Amino acid sequence: MSAPRSLLQITAVAILSISFSASAGQPIPRIAIIIDDLGYQLEAGLRALNLPGPVSYAVLPKTPNGTSLALTAHAKGKEVLLHLPLESVNQENLEEPGAITLDMSRDAFHEAFGVALASVPSAIGVRNHRGRPLTRHPGHMAWLMEEIAAHDGMFFVDSFTTHESIALQIAFESGVAAARRHVFLDNDRSPAALRKAFDRLTALARQKGVAVAIGHPYPETLEFLERELLELDSGTMVLIPVSQALNFIEPEVVNKL
Ligand SMILES: [Zn+2]
Repeated sequence: MSAPRSLLQITAVAILSISFSASAGQPIPRIAIIIDDLGYQLEAGLRALNLPGPVSYAVLPKTPNGTSLALTAHAKGKEVLLHLPLESVNQENLEEPGAITLDMSRDAFHEAFGVALASVPSAIGVRNHRGRPLTRHPGHMAWLMEEIAAHDGMFFVDSFTTHESIALQIAFESGVAAARRHVFLDNDRSPAALRKAFDRLTALARQKGVAVAIGHPYPETLEFLERELLELDSGTMVLIPVSQALNFIEPEVVNKL
C-alpha cells in the first residue's frame, strides 16, 4: 500500500503524463473498455469474453456464473474487476447477492468484501455496481478504499456519474490507484447511438490521450464491438486493459475534486 497522495501530487502526475505524451511526438490514442454486469447469463458472458483484444470485465459477486466467467476471462489473459454492489440511498441493491449495505459495521463490511472478492477470482480491481452512495456516504467509500488498499496493486474504477464524485478523491487520499469512466457505450442500444458513443470515446482519446468506456453484455453492444474492435487500426487507436489507464485523471477533473 502506497502512502496517501495529496491532490497537488495527483495534479502533477496528470500533468506529467500529458507532457510525456506530447514529448513523444505523435502518441497513439488509447481506449479502455470495461464490460459490466457479468455473472448471471453464461452465454452472453462468454460471448463478451470473446471480444477481440484486451477488453476488461467487471464481474458481479456470488452470481451463478460469476466465478467461472472470471476464471475464463483470466485464462484468456483479460483483466477482471470485482463489480461490487453498493446499496444506494434508495436501497435499490438490497436484493443483489454480495451487496454492501449501509447498515454494516466496519467488521461486517470487511467480511462482505472478502466474501465478494473470493467469488470473483483473479480480480485485480474494483468497480461499484449501481447505487450512488458515494456523495452521501463518504464513510463507506473510505472503508471500500481501505479494503482495496489492503490488496497490493488493486485499483478502483469510478463510474463518474456525477462531476462531484467523491470516490476518486477518497481513492487518491487512500493511496488507491484509480481510473474514471468517460463514456457509457450503451445507455441507448440503437446502432446509431452505439456508433455515436464509440465515436465520442475515440474522439476523447484523441483529445486526452486515454479514454475509458463502460458497456454491458447486451446483444446489440456485443455485436457492435465484435465488428468495431476488429476494425480498430492499431496505428491510429490502441485498445488497452483498464489497468493501463490508471491515474490518468485530467487536471480539470482533479481541480474539481
Ligand atoms: Zn453494474
